[in-house]
Amino acid sequence: VGEIELKDVNFTYPTRGTQVLTTINLKIQTGTVTALVGPSGGGKSTIVSLIERFYDPNSGVITLDGVDIKRLDPRWYRSIIGFVSQEPLLFAGTIKENISFGVENASMDDIRAAAEKANAHQFIGAFESTYDTVVGERGVRLSGGQKQRIAIARALLLNPKVLLLDEATSALDAESEYLVKEAIDRLMHNRTVLVIAHRLSTVVNANSVMVVNQEEIWESLNTCRVLVFACH
Ligand code: ADP
Ligand code: ADP
Repeated sequence: VGEIELKDVNFTYPTRGTQVLTTINLKIQTGTVTALVGPSGGGKSTIVSLIERFYDPNSGVITLDGVDIKRLDPRWYRSIIGFVSQEPLLFAGTIKENISFGVENASMDDIRAAAEKANAHQFIGAFESTYDTVVGERGVRLSGGQKQRIAIARALLLNPKVLLLDEATSALDAESEYLVKEAIDRLMHNRTVLVIAHRLSTVVNANSVMVVNQEEIWESLNTCRVLVFACH
C-alpha cells in the first residue's frame, strides 16, 4: 500500500498568477519506480510539493490508497512520506548523526534494527564503516552523489511508504550513480517511489515514466500535461 493518485489537479502558486498544473491525472503505483521527467520549469517539483502537502491543489484531489490526503492526520502523513531533495542538507557532524537524524539517540543496534525494518539494511549497512566520518563544514567534503546517498539512507531509516526523490542534476561520479540507481531498484519493493529523473539510466530502469511537458504541442492550451507511459 502507498499508492498515490492525482485526480484533476489544478494548481497556481499563491504568489503568482500563472497556472502551473492544469487537470493533472496520474497514478504512482506501489512496488514500482515511477520517473517524472520533463523540461525545467515544467512542474515536476510542484507535483512533488503537492504530494508532500507543502501546498494543496486549488482543485482536484490527491489520494493515498484512495483516501484524500487532506483527510489524513498531517503528522501521520508526514511520517510516511520520505523526501530527498536535489541538494540534500547535511549538517556538520558524523555520517551516523546525519543518517539517524529523526531517530532519537540512535545506537548502532537501533540503526541496524530500523534499517532491517525498512528492508534497507544492505543500503544503510554500507555506511557502517564510515559512520564516524565527520562531514559538513568541519569535515570531509562530499560529492553530490555521496550526499544524496546519505539523505536517502536518512529517509529510509524512517521506513516511508512513499519515497519522493529529486535526483541531482549535477553529473554524478560513476560509482555514486551506480549506488543510487541500485538503491532505487532495490527499495521499490513494498514502497511507492517517485523520482524526478534527470538521468537517462533512471528513466530506462523505471517501471513507469511520466513526462511533464509544457512545450508547443500543449501551447495552445497554455497548460501543463502529463503523459504516462507504462514500461514493460
Ligand atoms: P529544477 O528544474 O532543477 O527543479 P528549478 O529552477 O525549476 O530547478 O527550481 C529549483 C527550486 O526553486 C524548486 O524547488 C522550485 O520550487 C523553486 N522555484 C522555482 N521557481 C520559483 C519561483 N518563481 N519562486 C519561488 N521558488 C521557485
Ligand atoms: P520543474 O521541477 O519541472 O523544473 P517547477 O515545479 O519547479 O518545475 O516549476 C514549475 C513552474 O512553477 C515554473 O514556472 C516555476 O517558475 C514556478 N514555480 C516553482 N516554484 C514556485 C514558487 N514557490 N512560487 C512561484 N512559482 C513557482
